[in-house]
Amino acid sequence: MMFWFRKYKILATAILAILLLTPAKPRAEVRISPILQRIIPETSDRVKAGQVVSKPIPFVTRSDVVHLKLRIDNAVFKGMSVWVCDENNRRMLLARRNARCIGGNDAVGHYQLSAKPYGTGVNYLMFDNTRSLLLTKKIRYLLVLNTPLTSNMRQSLQGIFDRLSANIKRTFKAPPFGIFVRPCGEVNAFSSGRTGDITLCSELVLEAMFAKKGGMLTGIFFHELGHTLLNLWGDPNWHNERTADEFAAVVMILSGQQNAIQNWIRWYEANEDWVREAQIIVATKDLHPLNVQRISAIRDIQRYPSNYIPRWNRLIYPHLTDRELDRIITAPRRFENPRLAKMTLKGR
Ligand SMILES: [Zn+2]
Repeated sequence: MMFWFRKYKILATAILAILLLTPAKPRAEVRISPILQRIIPETSDRVKAGQVVSKPIPFVTRSDVVHLKLRIDNAVFKGMSVWVCDENNRRMLLARRNARCIGGNDAVGHYQLSAKPYGTGVNYLMFDNTRSLLLTKKIRYLLVLNTPLTSNMRQSLQGIFDRLSANIKRTFKAPPFGIFVRPCGEVNAFSSGRTGDITLCSELVLEAMFAKKGGMLTGIFFHELGHTLLNLWGDPNWHNERTADEFAAVVMILSGQQNAIQNWIRWYEANEDWVREAQIIVATKDLHPLNVQRISAIRDIQRYPSNYIPRWNRLIYPHLTDRELDRIITAPRRFENPRLAKMTLKGR
């Protein structure tokens, strides 16, 4: 449990950093799913004859459930044993003594196993090829972890996103929209074209949390916020992916979050594989630019903010609340335009 709270603190700090203004009263449109899901990407491995390969399972709480999807790729003799063991029983199994683990000797071809953590300490996934005398087993596996939130965890996440939502409302004038954190089956985030609701997939939130990459989550959230606000303001460019990235970068520069931009770029760099990206674009007709293009466009805004921010100020100011325009007039930050804010306020 301590483990969760330590990681959770990192997330809390990251999300708090994206608040635009001082905390305000919460709105009701934030929903946190009672169960968060996380996907550990597919991994391939080779288990030699007579060998046991063990991998720690990254459980967060004692109520988690892990779902293993395993594929054994050998042409023949596709069988092996698969177990979930706690530390003590892992040692027993490795010493070929009687171990009490969950699983069985019947993993063949496509195999699935679900388990909760048991015993004390770390749990391990054990790929056991000791029944084979000669054959190395070629395996590919994917883990899906479901974490039911305790009411404390849920309330804390709710509080963070309530404050975020309230601060957006205090900054921008727009019809109300929801912010949802829920499992989607993929590491992603969406802005609904119909309602403007923003969904942050729990897979993405948990990946940011475990990789300590709050900045990447900030960038992705503001990208979705860009789609949402431009959409709700009736801007014809709301659907444009590059425009949404530009909105995110501009808002992050204006609120002094250069470090978060760096983290965001690093996440794109880590996922850079133009061949795979192009295949996805062709298969799904997706409109996102390649990561290499996104990185270069964001870097250009960082390098030459004056080429971008004054234009964005002209677009955004008519949609700022009186209170935010007032703040720009009285306490302008770098690249803000108090004269334009004054004119905008006067014209209301
Ligand atoms: Zn987008």
